[in-house]
Amino acid sequence: MSCLFCRIIAGDVPSRKAYEDDTLVAFHDVNPQAPVHVLIVPRKHIATLNDLAPDDQPTVGAMVARAAALAKDLGIDARGYRTVFNCNREAGQSVFHIHLHLLGGRPMHWPPG
Ligand code: AMP
Repeated sequence: MSCLFCRIIAGDVPSRKAYEDDTLVAFHDVNPQAPVHVLIVPRKHIATLNDLAPDDQPTVGAMVARAAALAKDLGIDARGYRTVFNCNREAGQSVFHIHLHLLGGRPMHWPPG
């Protein structure tokens, strides 16, 4: 299995888990860009947002809802937080298994770099 996030989901690569269920796994980013930086990842391997199938829509909805739930659990919901999907190289995607970044715990700037 060559995909890093598939290996994390399988437990072959260690991670600090924040949540898991039958559809999703969430774990803390190894190189955090904010005091809270969690990645929400579907168990199904989907390389990029461009590869979503119509029946993946409930999974993507669950990812967004889980980001909001984790923001609450981690105490950043009221202050504010950012959720980001990077798609392909120009956007900075480095792991080709879709993931939703949940970032918070510091002021965020706009536009992003
Ligand atoms: P992206 O650049 O949008 O594809 O995001 C990939 C993210 O995965 C980056 O923020 C990395 O720091 C993070 N990452 C890479 N390897 C690991 C790992 N082994 N455990 C947790 N996060 C990782």
